[in-house]
Amino acid sequence: MVKAIFEQVKKRNPGEPEFHQAVEEVLESIAPVLEKHPEYKAAGIVERLVEPERQILFRVPWVDDKGVVQVNRGFRVEFNSAIGPYKGGLRLHPSVYIGIIKFLGFEQILKNSLTGLAMGGGKGGADFDPKGKSDGEVMRFCQSFMGELARHIGPDTDVPAGDIGVGGREIGYLYGMYRKIRNEFTGVLTGKGLDWGGSLVRTEATGYGLVYFLLQMLKDAGKDIKGATVVSSGSGNVSIYAAQKCQQLGAKVVAMSDSAGYLYDKDGIDLKVVQQLKEVERKRIKEYIKHRPDAKYQEGCSGIWTIKCDIALPNATQNEINKKSAETLVENGVWAVAEGANMPSTPDAIKVFLKNKVAFGPAKAANAGGVAVSGLEMAQNSQRLSWSFEKTDKYLDEGIMQHIYRSAKKSAEEYGQPGNLVVGANIAGFEKVARAMLAQGII
Ligand code: NDP
Repeated sequence: MVKAIFEQVKKRNPGEPEFHQAVEEVLESIAPVLEKHPEYKAAGIVERLVEPERQILFRVPWVDDKGVVQVNRGFRVEFNSAIGPYKGGLRLHPSVYIGIIKFLGFEQILKNSLTGLAMGGGKGGADFDPKGKSDGEVMRFCQSFMGELARHIGPDTDVPAGDIGVGGREIGYLYGMYRKIRNEFTGVLTGKGLDWGGSLVRTEATGYGLVYFLLQMLKDAGKDIKGATVVSSGSGNVSIYAAQKCQQLGAKVVAMSDSAGYLYDKDGIDLKVVQQLKEVERKRIKEYIKHRPDAKYQEGCSGIWTIKCDIALPNATQNEINKKSAETLVENGVWAVAEGANMPSTPDAIKVFLKNKVAFGPAKAANAGGVAVSGLEMAQNSQRLSWSFEKTDKYLDEGIMQHIYRSAKKSAEEYGQPGNLVVGANIAGFEKVARAMLAQGII
């Protein structure tokens, strides 16, 4: 049955390989659930799950610093709202097209379900490249983008956040425009500044949450993060805060990257330098070696996985670890891989990790900390109050990430695949959404 649904997905969504990949993995995992629950089959739950509730495509015109009109394409896919308002980030990157947004939105449905919070799945973005643009250009783009998006979102409808290329600066410009158009101050975007409705720990949430999840994996594998060698790809929001938490817990992070190349610092990456370069000066990571001359920089991204490490954290982008890189990591003795990015390991790479008994934390479970704290930001906005850093961080660790780990582990065991968190996370995330869709009828 799932095979036929998958064939239909491919036929109906041609030229979208990332979306096909995300759907195929989930369908393979949930096949036994459908056998056990004929009522899901009868209600067409899966056929409806793979079809977004709404897909919005729009023109985003803006004027660059030379006075030239530029046109980008904007997207918002409101995938599934059975358990709460659509929730998911906005990605600004030249590679963005509808297939990327759909893969991310689809993943987001199950991820949000896993958090235990009331959030549906959505995702958006544009094929705009913020790199090399002035603040004014980024602001004009964001204002134009929100000019259209504002009519589709709202605190109880759809609540976007950041993703690749969308950090505090972009959320600020987007929120300002939303507020102007709608004339209301509501919690409609998350990742806001602390002075205007943001939550403490949101900046750190995905990276810290990833490491909290990793700690549970390591506990079951009988390993300790203290003294471990870590490779964390990327040097954006997720990578920086995952690396920071690893360092706080006594691990040594020896390598990071950006889309141009990677760094190796055998003495341990100096995160302050990376943060200054990437968060403040918006420069390339290559500049790091000017500050730390003993470190090495290499052009190209995939080479980062040839560095020997105990723990690999793919924190940059989709499909960054292929089968060959996975085999190299295994040959070099990796114990654990936890995915901070969305779908960073190809299906073949995941098979290599599972076959070799590497503890493997799949993205939709391991990186759910970001959206979870976004959910807490929405809760704080509704309450009109702010939680302390300690309270939010503790909730992220114990209330969210440990809960997700236990759910995924339990579902994997229940369905006869102990230790397989890929299957466990897909099933645990799916069951809640399926029950809600069943209860709400065919809509
Ligand atoms: P950022 O834009 O802050 O950083 C992305 C990093 O990845 C940068 O170092 C970037 O390099 C690198 N990168 C981007 N695209 C590519 C590419 N095609 N090849 C190689 N490297 C690339 O994004 P985030 O840290 O927020 O997001 C990273 C990943 O984590 C994404 O998959 C995102 O979907 C996922 N994620 C993010 C969450 C969040 O809360 N931010 C939540 C859950 C998942 P460069 O600077 O050169 O572009």
